[in-house]
Amino acid sequence: MPEIDHKHEAYICPVCRVSVTHTDDGYHCSTCDRTYPVLFGIPDFRIRSDRYLTLEQEREKAGKLHVFGKTATFTELLDFYYSITDDVPDELAIRYKAYIKNAPRQADLTVKDLSLSSDKDVLLDMGCGAGGMLMAAAGQCRTVIGVDIALRWLVICQKRLAESGVNATLVCADAEALPFEYGKMTRIVAGDVVEHVYDPTHLLEVCEKHLMPAGRLWISASNRYCLGPNALTRVWWIGFFPRSVRTRLLKKLRGVDSLRYINLVSPGYLERLLGKTGLHVLHTGPRRVTLIQGVDYPPLDRMLIYFYQLMLKFRLLSRILIWVGPAFEITTEKMVDRNAP
Ligand SMILES: [Zn+2]
Repeated sequence: MPEIDHKHEAYICPVCRVSVTHTDDGYHCSTCDRTYPVLFGIPDFRIRSDRYLTLEQEREKAGKLHVFGKTATFTELLDFYYSITDDVPDELAIRYKAYIKNAPRQADLTVKDLSLSSDKDVLLDMGCGAGGMLMAAAGQCRTVIGVDIALRWLVICQKRLAESGVNATLVCADAEALPFEYGKMTRIVAGDVVEHVYDPTHLLEVCEKHLMPAGRLWISASNRYCLGPNALTRVWWIGFFPRSVRTRLLKKLRGVDSLRYINLVSPGYLERLLGKTGLHVLHTGPRRVTLIQGVDYPPLDRMLIYFYQLMLKFRLLSRILIWVGPAFEITTEKMVDRNAP
C-alpha cells in the first residue's frame, strides 16, 4: 500500500501565506498561532467548511468513513457513504456512484489533452473528490496533488488510491485559500468544482496565481442552459427558472433542493469571468464522455449518454452542444506576461 507522503511538502498558512512548521499536532503557523491538524494521514488546512456540514460534523463523518474503510473495499465504502447521507435521494445516489466509478476513464480524455510530462509536471486537482482524475494522472506527472474541502471525500479517495496502488498527495483545503506558494503548478484541473465554491471569480483568480507562466487550467462544469436533464438533479430545464421557482420545484420533485448551494454557470458566463483574469481561453467544447461497461448507470441514462456521444461526432451539433448540452469544458493557458506590451 503506498504511503501518502505529505511531510515533505512545503506548506504555507492559507491565511498569512507564510511557512508553517510541522509539529506532533500537525502544522503550526507562528504568525496567526493556528494549528492545522493531520487527520487520518491527511493535512487539514481548512479555515471554513463546505456549506453542507460544519467543520466538526464534517470531521465526525470523515471519522466514521475512516473506521468503516478499515475493513471495507472502496465500493463498499462508497455505498456506506450514501447510506449515511440523508440529503441525496436514492435515485440520484445510484447515478452519482456510477459517475464516480466511471471517473478515471472519463479523466483519461483530459489527461491526454494536457500532454503531461512525468519529469516536470506538477498537477493540482482542485476538488478531487473520490480521486478519478488523480488515478488517471498519476504516473504521468512528477507530482500529483488532490485538494478537496470535504475531508469525508478525501477519506474515500485515500481508500481508492491505496486499493489501486496509486500515489498522490491529498490535502484538505478550501480551493479559494490553498496552503501552497503561488506559481508552483504547471497544470490545474478543476472538474465540476466551479459550481460548488463560494465565489467562482475568486476561484479562477486563485488558479491563475498558482499556475506557472504558460501553465494550463482545465475546467469542466454542468451547463445552466442545458436543454435536457440537469446533470445534478436530472430535472429538465431547471436552470432556466429563477431561484425561488427552482427551489419549490426541486422540493416537490426530489424532496430536497440539491441546487441550494450551487452556482449555476454557463460557458458564456465562465468565458466572461476568465476574460478578467490572466488566463487565455485555448478551447471551449462540449464535455466529452466515455463510459465503462459494467458501471451501473440506469438504462435510460446509458441510452442518453450513447445518444450524446453520437451527436458529438457531428461538427455542427457539437458546436451547438457547447451552449445547450449538459456540460462543457474549457482549457486555458496562463499568459506569460499579461502586462507585456
Ligand atoms: Zn497563519
